[in-house]
Amino acid sequence: MRGFAQDRPLGTCPDCGSILSCLYDYEKAKETLTQESLRRRQKTLWRYSEVLPGIAPQNVVTLGEGMTPVVRLKSGLLLKDDGLIPTGTFKARGMAVAVSKAKDLGLKKLVVPSAGNAGSALACYAARGGLAARVFMPTETPQSIVKECVQYGAEVVQVEGNIGDAGARMRTQMDGYFDMSTLKEPYRLEGKKTMGYEVAEQTDFELPGAIIYPTGGGTGLLGMWKALDEMEKLGLLGSDRPKMFSVQSEACAPIVDALDTGKDAPDPGFPDGTTIAVGLRVPRPFAGKQIVAVLRESGGGAVAVPDPEILEAMKSLAKEGVFASPEGAATLAGHRRLLEAGAVARDEEVLLYNTGTGLKYLDLVR
Ligand SMILES: *Cc1c(COP(=O)(O)O)cnc(C)c1O
Repeated sequence: MRGFAQDRPLGTCPDCGSILSCLYDYEKAKETLTQESLRRRQKTLWRYSEVLPGIAPQNVVTLGEGMTPVVRLKSGLLLKDDGLIPTGTFKARGMAVAVSKAKDLGLKKLVVPSAGNAGSALACYAARGGLAARVFMPTETPQSIVKECVQYGAEVVQVEGNIGDAGARMRTQMDGYFDMSTLKEPYRLEGKKTMGYEVAEQTDFELPGAIIYPTGGGTGLLGMWKALDEMEKLGLLGSDRPKMFSVQSEACAPIVDALDTGKDAPDPGFPDGTTIAVGLRVPRPFAGKQIVAVLRESGGGAVAVPDPEILEAMKSLAKEGVFASPEGAATLAGHRRLLEAGAVARDEEVLLYNTGTGLKYLDLVR
C-alpha cells in the first residue's frame, strides 16, 4: 500500500486510479477521543477532529453542520434526519470537510458533476468559504436545486442525460477547476463518515441491528462503514456490526442486481433509468465493488423499490412530521420489502437514514 501526505491536493491514486482512503494515528486519537470527552464537545461533526483531515482553524468552512436528530417513528423504527442540515441533505457533511480541506490546500475553484444535492452543497460551502464553484447537472435535476446553486453564486451547466454524462462533459471543460467528484478526492468520504460516528453516539454505542440507507454513488454507505471500523480501532465499539442494507430505485438498481446475481461488482454496462429519487440514479457507481463488498460483509443486502411506493412512504413519513426526500423515504419502502422477505425481523431495532428534506422536491407533492 502506498501512502500520500495530506499537504497537497489529492485525487485518486496516481498509480492505479483507485480510491484513496484517509488514515489516522488511531493509537494517539484513542487517548483523547473517548465517550467521556465527546459528551463535552460542540454539537457539530467537527467534534470528531482526531479522525478528520488536518485543517488550519481559520480555513474550516462551517455552518454548524452535524448532530442531526434521531427520532423514533410510531412503528418503532428509528430515523436519523439529515433533512435538518445546511442545504437540507447529508451532502453538506462531505462538502463541509472537503471544501475546508480544499481551502486549506490553497485551492480556489471547485467543480462537481451532481444529480443535484452534492452540487448545492458544494455551492453553499464554496460561498461560505469564499471559493468559486461550478456544477454540472442533468437537465432533470429539480429546479429548486438548480436555483439553490445559482442563489449561492455557483455557475451551473445543465447537461442532457445522467450524472455520468454530466461528469463526461465536466472533464472536457476543467478550466483549472479542482474535481470534487464522489470518491475521486478523499475528503468528502471523511465528512460523510461522521454519520456513522453520530449514529453510534446517539444510540449510546449500542448500534441498531440494521441500518437502511439509500444508495447512489455509495459514499454515505462506505463512509458509515469506515466510521464503524475506526470506532472499533478507537475502542469505542466492539466487533459487532449492524446489517447494512442499500435501497435503490427499481428504475436504476445496479447494486441490487449485482447482489441478486452473485457478482462482485455491478455490471459496467448497467442500463440507465429515471426515478423521482434523482440522488439514486447512478447506473455505474465508481465504488460499486466496495459497496457490494460492504453489504455482503455486514450480512445485509440490497433492495429495490418502485417510485409509487417511494411516494407512499413520503406521505406516510409526513403524517408523522418528517418531510423526507424521495431518497430518504425509499428506506421506509425498502424496510417493508425487507420485512416481507424476512431479511429483517419485526422486533429488530432498525435505523432508517433520511438523507434529505422533501422541501427540495415540492413538484412531487400533488
Ligand atoms: C446523493 C444522495 C443520495 C445517495 O448518496 P450516495 O452517498 O451517493 O450513495 C441519497 N439521498 C440523497 C438525498 C442524496 O442527495
